[in-house]
This record gives sequence, structure tokens and C-alpha cells, in this order.
Amino acid sequence: MELKIPSLSKNESFARVTIASFASQLDPTVEEINDIKTAVSEAVTNAIIHGYENEMGELYISAKITANTVEIKVKDTGRGIEDVEKAREPLFTSKPELERSGMGFTIIENFMDEVEILSKTGSGTQITMRK
Ligand code: ATP
Ligand code: MG
Repeated sequence: MELKIPSLSKNESFARVTIASFASQLDPTVEEINDIKTAVSEAVTNAIIHGYENEMGELYISAKITANTVEIKVKDTGRGIEDVEKAREPLFTSKPELERSGMGFTIIENFMDEVEILSKTGSGTQITMRK
């Protein structure tokens, strides 16, 4: 399943609900679905506010199911992350002035079983998460 949608904040809830509905074919518990929704929401919000810095861009979101696992990818072609290891640290944020808490990646890692972050400065970021 693939979505390509404009990087508008109203599309964050669309992506969250669509991925949750796709993942529901695995018969997840309410808790598992809530974890997936939260992780998608954090990744999409990051793409909008950090990747595109609130300018227009495309969000590429895909999901696939293999065996008993859902794999979700959230990609932007925005500014990219300079230091991925640092970005993954709890409480690290490059936008403290916007009252971000720097917990997005930590939440994603806690709620999903596997998380991969591929990013290149100037080219964009792709988050792959599995549960
Ligand atoms: P919070 O998620 O708690 O509101 P945050 O977004 O700053 O705060 P994280 O989601 O953990 O925290 O992200 C950490 C940092 O990684 C961000 O501050 C930003 O610098 C960088 N980052 C995350 N996603 C992207 C992205 N898609 N493109 C560019 N930079 C990103
Ligand atoms: Mg975040």
C-alpha cells in the first residue's frame, strides 16, 4: 500500500488512520494499533516540520505485511538529518524554540519492534519501522 500526499499537517491524521486501518488485517490488540498510530504520527510530523520546515513537499508513506509483521515507511525529500545517532538520542531536538521535546524518535523506538533511519543532508529522510 502506498500513499503520496502533500506535507500538510491535516494529512498527519489521514496517514495515521489509513495505516492503522491497513494494519488492522493483522488482528492487532488496541494497544498495538495505538502504538502504530503514535509512531506514524511522530514520523509524519517530523517530515512536515523538520524535513520540509513547513514548506510544501510530498510525503511518501507505504505499508506492507509479511507473515505477522507490518512494515511502515515514511519518507520525505526534505533537508535530511546531519547526525542520525544524535537525532535518535532522547531529548535531542534541533527546534527547542518551537517547544519540541526531542522525544519523537524515542517514542517510535519504544513503540515499534525495529526502526531504521536513512537520511542524507539535502536529499531527505526515510524511516522504516516494523511491528
Ligand atoms: P518532538 O518529536 O518531541 O516534538 P523533535 O521532533 O525535535 O521533538 P525527534 O522527533 O526525536 O524530536 O527528532 C529529533 C531531531 O531529529 C529533530 O529535532 C530534527 O533535528 C531531526 N529530524 C527528525 N526527523 C527529521 C526529518 N524527517 N527531516 C529532518 N530532520 C529530522
Ligand atoms: Mg519529532
